[in-house]
Amino acid sequence: QLRRRLESELEDIRGGGTWKSERVIASRQGPHLRLAGGGAGACGEEGSRSLPPLPCRCFSLSVPAGIINFCANNYLGLSSHPEVIRAAVEALEKFGAGLSSVRFICGTQSIHKDLEEKIARFHQREDAILYASCFDANAGIFEALLTPEDAVLSDELNHASIIDGIRLCKANKYRYKHMDMQDLEAKLKEAQKHRLRLVATDGAFSMDGDIAPLREICQLAQKYDALVFIDECHATGFLGPNGRGTDELLGVMDKVTIINSTLGKALGGAAGGYTTGPKPLIDLLRQRSRPYLFSNSLPPAVVGCAAKALDLLMESNAIAQSMAAKTQRFRSKMTAAGFTISGKDHPICPVMLGDARLASVMAEDMLNRGIYVIGFSYPVVPKGQARIRVQISAVHSDEDIDRCVEAFTEVGRKHGALA
Ligand code: PLP
Repeated sequence: QLRRRLESELEDIRGGGTWKSERVIASRQGPHLRLAGGGAGACGEEGSRSLPPLPCRCFSLSVPAGIINFCANNYLGLSSHPEVIRAAVEALEKFGAGLSSVRFICGTQSIHKDLEEKIARFHQREDAILYASCFDANAGIFEALLTPEDAVLSDELNHASIIDGIRLCKANKYRYKHMDMQDLEAKLKEAQKHRLRLVATDGAFSMDGDIAPLREICQLAQKYDALVFIDECHATGFLGPNGRGTDELLGVMDKVTIINSTLGKALGGAAGGYTTGPKPLIDLLRQRSRPYLFSNSLPPAVVGCAAKALDLLMESNAIAQSMAAKTQRFRSKMTAAGFTISGKDHPICPVMLGDARLASVMAEDMLNRGIYVIGFSYPVVPKGQARIRVQISAVHSDEDIDRCVEAFTEVGRKHGALA
């Protein structure tokens, strides 16, 4: 009976066109990937420019085995950086595979404390606490901090993990229209009756590549006596003059109280998340936050990766600058070719197409040309706003970017997206 029910549910997902299939990668994460089924060495050396077409058993179509990857959150290209890998191996050898324990029983090593100190220093905050993921950090913070006497005001397009974290808490919930400051102000007025107000927003939104108006949010927060929380998963390491994030970019580092972010994107890409902010808040999370209290410590190799990624960023902002230049190249060339790219100056570059089928066939055709991009349509994005999301990395070459633009132009003309 269960099997029949599950199969029928799966059929509904397929029928609804929202089935998510997973492509199997047989190489490291990077600008150039080799897909499983392409045969050993199908695209030559790591970083090879030769991308021979081969039939691949992961796809119904014949696609190139070696592809240029434009859909990872590997913004700074640190996921396979040799120094990051070496740091992971050293941590693995010195501290073992894992702790077989939660932090407060016998799962805290010196490297966990060092990484927390480094994260707090990077963000110029008092303290930081590590989690197994930023999903966990978001799941843990609202319940630990807010009571039924308090209120949380959340952007309607916030990440699923913020939405879930808010669901878990007993505070009064207000949802304001996406980046709409008039609506936020109206909700803040309504929320004056509560003891404490917390405005929660993504720093950068991953579907649109747009950046929250943090200056205005912080001004409103000051006016209505609220705290500001930002999720910096798509900002940490590369937004702002020193890659500190959206708060640095918009000059409000001293006005944002709480930052949650991930170690699983720009900061080495292994896994892990954290909260950084005032020390008493971090102390409270260590006592009360359920995903922290009841889940295993981060494995040493993962800690090693993130610590090295932060060292590299604190030494120099050259990698972040390189990513910004590549982003600028892609955005300006695509705009000149006649495409509309959502957002501004962010390495998430959504190529707006409108029609869901068009986004899907164009993404497929891009893959046939060796360019790996993903189409998004309803319900992931609003109806009529289907798009192909391109993510730029510091380790894309200018040639990679130009090949991507050329492929978009050919495919766009073929399918009528371009005149
Ligand atoms: N918040 C945002 C905005 C994200 O994009 C993601 C990941 O997709 C998360 C939180 C969760 O991060 P993690 O992968 O570390 O759980």
